[in-house]
Amino acid sequence: MDCIFCKIAAGEIPSVRVYEDDRVLAFMDINPLSEGHLLIIPKAHAATIYEITEDDFLAVMSATHKLAAAVKKALNPDGINLLQLNGRAANQVVPHLHVHIVPRWSGDGLTISQWDMVAGDMENIKVVAEKIQGEIAS
Ligand code: AMP
Ligand code: ZN
Repeated sequence: MDCIFCKIAAGEIPSVRVYEDDRVLAFMDINPLSEGHLLIIPKAHAATIYEITEDDFLAVMSATHKLAAAVKKALNPDGINLLQLNGRAANQVVPHLHVHIVPRWSGDGLTISQWDMVAGDMENIKVVAEKIQGEIAS
């Protein structure tokens, strides 16, 4: 498979690894948004949240939990953003699921996670909520 993160998981492309278990690999992002920016991926290829198995997703989230604590201890950031993008419309560039851990410092000037709060139409919010509710798998 011609997937850059599969190649990283297989060791065919170099990466700076920080954590690994049987399902998951974490390595440093080579275009870091901040010091300590790292990525957590499933070893088994899955492009997005729609393709990944629940077990692999839980393994990725469990590793994310472990790594966030390690980043906090190692770098003592003021905050951490977790980012996980799905699809081109969401700005996903590499189509192999990954969670970003982006350490944040007060006044770091990064604009990720900044948006203007504009009150929504409550009637429409409720209609959309019901639509989603009707599709929740049991
Ligand atoms: P996105 O798909 O937009 O969530 O982000 C893809 C991320 O992968 C970007 O932050 C890139 O800097 C990062 N990236 C791409 N190629 C590599 C690589 N070979 N090693 C480490 N990080 C990478
Ligand atoms: Zn892949």
